[in-house]
Amino acid sequence: MTGTSLVEQRPAGPAVVQVAVLLETAEDYRLAGDYRSGSAVARQAAELAGASGDPAGQARGLRSLANQLLRLGEQEDAVTACREAVAVLEATGDEAGICEVLTLQALPLNDLGMHDEALDVLARGRDIAQRLGDRDLLYWVHNRTGVVHGSMGDREMSTEYLMRALTMADGMDTEARFCILNNVGDNAVHEVKRLRAAGEQDRAEQTLRSALGYVEEALGLARAARHPFRESICLDNHGMLLALAGDFAGAARMIEDSRAIAVIHGYRSLESAALQHQAHVRLMRGDCAAAVEGLLEALDRAVEAGEKPMAMEIHRELSDAYELVGDPAAALAHYRSFHALEREAHNHVAVARARMAVHHFELDNARLEADKARLEAELHRVRSVELEAANLSWQRQASEDALTGLPNRRFAELRLPELAAAAGPLCVAIADVDLFKGVNDRFGHFVGDEVLRQIAALLRDNVRDNDLVARFGGEEFLIALDGLSLPDALARCELLRAQVAGYPWEVLQPGLSVTISLGVAVVPAGGDLPAAQALADERLYAAKHQGRNRVIAG
Ligand code: GH3
Ligand code: MG
Ligand code: MG
Repeated sequence: MTGTSLVEQRPAGPAVVQVAVLLETAEDYRLAGDYRSGSAVARQAAELAGASGDPAGQARGLRSLANQLLRLGEQEDAVTACREAVAVLEATGDEAGICEVLTLQALPLNDLGMHDEALDVLARGRDIAQRLGDRDLLYWVHNRTGVVHGSMGDREMSTEYLMRALTMADGMDTEARFCILNNVGDNAVHEVKRLRAAGEQDRAEQTLRSALGYVEEALGLARAARHPFRESICLDNHGMLLALAGDFAGAARMIEDSRAIAVIHGYRSLESAALQHQAHVRLMRGDCAAAVEGLLEALDRAVEAGEKPMAMEIHRELSDAYELVGDPAAALAHYRSFHALEREAHNHVAVARARMAVHHFELDNARLEADKARLEAELHRVRSVELEAANLSWQRQASEDALTGLPNRRFAELRLPELAAAAGPLCVAIADVDLFKGVNDRFGHFVGDEVLRQIAALLRDNVRDNDLVARFGGEEFLIALDGLSLPDALARCELLRAQVAGYPWEVLQPGLSVTISLGVAVVPAGGDLPAAQALADERLYAAKHQGRNRVIAG
């Protein structure tokens, strides 16, 4: 399968590297058939990736986890891991990844007897594969759809889908090729029996011959890959096909080899399947007593492994076998056990369905709650940013003069008492543009406005940051010089006057020249601010009186 793209695009931070290492380790375990270790490592990978905000890694971890839980017979947990993986991938919009997980999810659902649900997820997978025009994905969908139909006992549909997948498997990787060869072989065991029972001898023999070829190829692949789980499965299938072909000795050998591998690696379901199949071979050979013995052992193993569906099937087979050996009481007893298990299985499916529905409902709910909380937090953030911006904008509008950008009179009148209250001397100066009416009259209001802006800039640029320059009235500015004695304030105001007088006004308007006059007063410590302002005003008028373009400070 494909679909690692997102991981590679991420910056390789330490967590991402750690996740990648864990994923590779989980895969190594899986390929070695050590699903117990593999699932533990895959779970760690998913958790770490989830915690470090790496959705692609999280989904891969969950998929590997589901895949290995499935082999361990932990079907419900496998379904849950798949559901979580799909949710993660939906958030990242990785459709191909979703399709891969859905084809996997069909297997534990199928094992749980939830065939409708399995076909549903496969239908969704098929839609995605077709929409994306992805042959590999479609191959897996067909393959798994064939498996589910087979479990439902619909051999014709199963054969149709599996053969479709088989024709698509050329040029695919070993795992894909193995998987379809094995599934076709497995299906053929049932299909041959069905065709023979229907009197279609020719088709039965043809199916058997080609299936033997497929399973031999699959066995070769499993051995080349040193994959014990696959080898055990293939040997078992191969044995059953040989038995159908009449080679009972060969069949017994193959199935015994399958069982031995299963015992070594602790594949308990494969072990009981092998025992069951050994008994089948004995039955086919006509050795009913030995078959009964084998089935009883298989039953023990299936019960030990908690393989209820298998135990159920073995009870039915025991019932048939006892009937053949002429023990109707034992046959009836096993038939009853079969029946009880069948009812239990129905209940089990219903309960599993209900439990998973509750679990998934809770998962969905938790996800919705998390989404809601995230959206609310985002909305709150956006609102407070907007509100702050609006507040700032109002604050600015309320305290700023629109023409010059200087603080306005209201702001200055609030700020001045604070400056006056601080320790240290404070001087206030009032500057007024000389004969400004004439500027307006000669050059127009537009030029007058430009002059006011330029004077504002000159004043602002030639005081210190802690001084205050405000537009006080039409063409009048207030300057508060913090921490300066009167002589220093006088010098500073002299500089301001000179800056205005020396500015190249002709650039703005040919023939234009502008000057200002200033009156300065000191605000004594703890002193009377209005009195000082009035004094500065008086001195400004004195400056005007004395011919303008000058500073008067006493
Ligand atoms: P003085 O030297 O005695 O101060 O003479 P002046 O002409 O500057 O004095 P006066 O107070 O008679 O005139 C002030 C002028 O300033 C009157 C008004 O049209 C002008 N003015 C006030 N605010 C603005 C403004 O925002 N833009 C412009 N273009 N002119 C303004
Ligand atoms: Mg004036
Ligand atoms: Mg004036």
